[in-house]
Amino acid sequence: MKTLIAHGKLLVDDQLISQNVLIENGLVTAITMPDQVVDADQAIDVEGKFVSPGLVDVHVHYREPGFNDKETIRTGTMAAAHGGYTTVGAMPNLDPTPDTVEHLTDQIKLNKDKGLIKVLQYATITENRRGNQLVDFTGLKQAGAFAFSNDGSGIQTSETMYQAMQEIAKLGMSLVAHVEDSSLSANGALAEEAAQRIGVKPIPWVSETAQVARDLTLAEATGVHYHVCHVSSKHTVEIIREAKRRGVNVTCEVTPHHLLLTEDNIIEDNSLFKMNPPLRSQSDRQALIGGLLDGTIDMIATDHAPHTYEQKKQPISDAPFGITGSETAFSMLYTYFVRTGIFTLGQLINWMALRPAQVFKLATAGKLAVGLPADIAVFDLNHEGEIKVTEFASKGKNSPFIGEKVFGQTVLTMVDGQVVYQ
Ligand SMILES: [Zn+2]
Repeated sequence: MKTLIAHGKLLVDDQLISQNVLIENGLVTAITMPDQVVDADQAIDVEGKFVSPGLVDVHVHYREPGFNDKETIRTGTMAAAHGGYTTVGAMPNLDPTPDTVEHLTDQIKLNKDKGLIKVLQYATITENRRGNQLVDFTGLKQAGAFAFSNDGSGIQTSETMYQAMQEIAKLGMSLVAHVEDSSLSANGALAEEAAQRIGVKPIPWVSETAQVARDLTLAEATGVHYHVCHVSSKHTVEIIREAKRRGVNVTCEVTPHHLLLTEDNIIEDNSLFKMNPPLRSQSDRQALIGGLLDGTIDMIATDHAPHTYEQKKQPISDAPFGITGSETAFSMLYTYFVRTGIFTLGQLINWMALRPAQVFKLATAGKLAVGLPADIAVFDLNHEGEIKVTEFASKGKNSPFIGEKVFGQTVLTMVDGQVVYQ
């Protein structure tokens, strides 16, 4: 079966060029000029829309098993496909959590059975993501762990982090860190200024940056690939920039919401603005944008964190952290950064597809090229539409971007040549 994606525009050296993409047995087998006659069984005419490599998101939360009322692997991957993602890294804050070979093996099977797209599974760093008892890193690597993370909480003791890094370095794997010193952030909900204004406890920037400073020293000593999740503070950007200059094997990600919003957007007690790390100041936001542009920040990851309506309608002091992101990331970033000339489309796709694949050594993801799997997203860059909660595939409706008028809606997503969203 040969499928032709006809009359699309592909990125070539950051220019959109009209080309056709031929797909056979799940692979891209030819990329041709639009007037070239190609023999195919079916053609999908995308009428000048942008044909992109499928996006890669290394930070999502799918909640199954344990919290299926928030999200399932099926609804989470439908949401990802709706956003143009074809590969994701799923965090391990599940119940049971993938902290043993048995749990991880079960989780990988569940992801494969239920997932519409490619779901790579993180294993934890410590047992049940708590305390100091390290997991069986070697066994978990052999069982297919994507990387190791305790996302949701920081590793509190230096000894645990140091030992984890030594073992993970030996295996050539990645340690992906939610960085938070909980002695500094305990019971906090928002960044300093907003916390004072709304009347809740703060999560000060030092709780993030102090732990990254410790970890950079340990990463330098061990040589591990240390990846920092969702950087939020300008001070963190600065010390990562400096560590990269020294040659520390560090990479990091930023979320769309930290690029788009600040604590000034929190004008009332609304939990749709509660996430961890919190939205910070305008100067922090500018430093994150600058960090992407100068290569200090490697990629954009959503931290897609669905919760139920009942959980998120609570006041900021009580609601859980997190917002959804899979279905809004590309269109929001395209609208607010590419159409405004701050980023080029090529830069955005680099940070949302190619670079995450490179950093995590995913040889066949993040690129649209002959011989690679046909993991493809097609976006309509010219039509303005509204982000509607009724169009979310995610069970989580907790997005501060509902009602936004955006360009760049997904019109088609394919994984291995199979349509998973249209
Ligand atoms: Zn996190």
